[in-house]
Order: sequence, then C-alpha cells, then structure tokens
Amino acid sequence: DSAWLMSWTFNRQPHFKAQPEGQLVGWIYGLYPERPGDFVGKPMEECTGAEICMEWLYHLGVPETEIEALARESASTVPCMMPYITAFFMPRQAGDRPEVVPEGCVNFAFLGQFTETPRDTVFTVEYSVRTAMEAVYTLLDVERGVPEVFGSVYDVRCLLNATHYLLDGRKLTDMKLPLPYKLALHAGLEKVQGTTLEELLTTYELI
Ligand SMILES: Cc1cc2nc3c(=O)[nH]c(=O)nc-3n(C[C@H](O)[C@H](O)[C@H](O)COP(=O)(O)OP(=O)(O)OC[C@H]3O[C@@H](n4cnc5c(N)ncnc54)[C@H](O)[C@@H]3O)c2cc1C
Repeated sequence: DSAWLMSWTFNRQPHFKAQPEGQLVGWIYGLYPERPGDFVGKPMEECTGAEICMEWLYHLGVPETEIEALARESASTVPCMMPYITAFFMPRQAGDRPEVVPEGCVNFAFLGQFTETPRDTVFTVEYSVRTAMEAVYTLLDVERGVPEVFGSVYDVRCLLNATHYLLDGRKLTDMKLPLPYKLALHAGLEKVQGTTLEELLTTYELI
C-alpha cells in the first residue's frame, strides 16, 4: 500500500557480532523515492532517517500518536541513496555486456555485475564471485570447475523447496484457495499418486 513501494527485511539476528541483545538491525527499502509518502507527505529522497522510519511504522499499523516518538527515540535510521542500483536490471541482450574473458584475451578480464556469464542472476554476490572465478581459472589455466549456478529457475526440487518455505511449512492442501482451485489441486494430487512427483512433494513436505 505504500506510495514508495516500501519493503522491509530483518534477517537473522544478531546481524553484527557486537550487536547488543534486544536490538534489531534491519533494512527498509523504497523503490519510488521521488513520490510523496503516505504518512510523512514528503518524497523519501527528501526525508531524514527518522521520517523514513515514521513512514514505515505507519505502514506497519503502529498507532499514529506513537509513531513520532518511536521513530525518534527507539530507532536509529540511516538513509542511504542508491540511485544506480536498478542499472543491474536494465534489459540486455547478447553483446551488450562483455564476456568475462573476451575471445582472444590472455591478460585481462571483466568482473562483476556488468559482465556476461551464462544463466546466473545479477544483484547477487554469487554473480560477482563467479565472474572472478571464471576469469582467474581461465587466464591462469587453473583446472577447477566453477560451481554450478543454483537451480532456482528450472530445477523443480529448488522450486518445491522454496514453496515449502513460502508456505511456512504448511501443506499444499492447507492453502486458502478459491473452491475451483481447491478442487483442481485435489484432482491433481490424485493424479500424481504413485509417481515421482508425489515422492518429491512428500520429500519437500508439501503433502
Ligand atoms: C541494497 C542492496 C542489497 C543487496 N542484497 C543482496 C543480497 O541479499 N544478496 C546478494 O547476493 N547480493 C545482494 N546485493 C548485490 C551485491 O551486494 C553486489 O552484487 C556485490 O556486492 C557486487 O560485488 P562486486 O565486488 O562486483 O562490486 P562492489 O561491491 O560494488 O565493489 C566494487 C568496488 O570498486 C570500487 N571502485 C569503483 N570505482 C573505482 C575506481 N575507479 N577505483 C578504485 N575503486 C573503485 C567501489 O568503491 C567498490 O568498493 C545487494 C546490493 C544492494 C545495493
């Protein structure tokens, strides 16, 4: 519902080794920082950390009378502008970005998010590390394989595992679905009985 398209993540805590107990470290993102916020009324890019925190607390449903004090006294919010980060996601086609080791090169390579490596996904540390491995192994003739790209798109085992976690460990049949979908799901589950698919669904605790 947020005009800034806010999202937030509090990964496993403590985030830092020296983090005092009882404190949380999190990220709050806004993808449309130029739009006025729903609570603070200002564009995110003009806000102080406390104001960004206020907008976030508002969207969490914190009573409005408590928002300002909580944001100013119970949180420390450090704004960070990353205007170029979406450059990773610009549409591209073969040839737009250099190969890690362009054909014929023997003493230089390209590393990082703006080089081309097959199948991997940008905006990840893995992508940069993979390009570095490719560069070093190729140029120095190191006989080591670059680890396989994580099969998050086409490997049905990865997809089923992700589904298991997205459902917080609940079974497929526990999903709240409109009746036609529910019927289709049950029909589908009957159809896969005794097949490898049923084994996989069992392995990933989806049935
Ligand atoms: C908000 C955000 C969240 C992210 N979340 C995740 C995540 O959850 N998981 C994940 O895997 N990835 C995530 N990423 C992506 C990941 O952080 C990057 O893809 C990765 O850090 C890129 O590593 P790199 O070494 O190629 O480049 P960088 O880490 O960008 O390093 C490049 C370095 O070069 C330096 N530099 C630039 N120009 C020069 C120059 N002329 N001379 C000398 N030095 C220079 C820069 O200062 C910088 O230190 C996230 C990125 C962002 C911005």
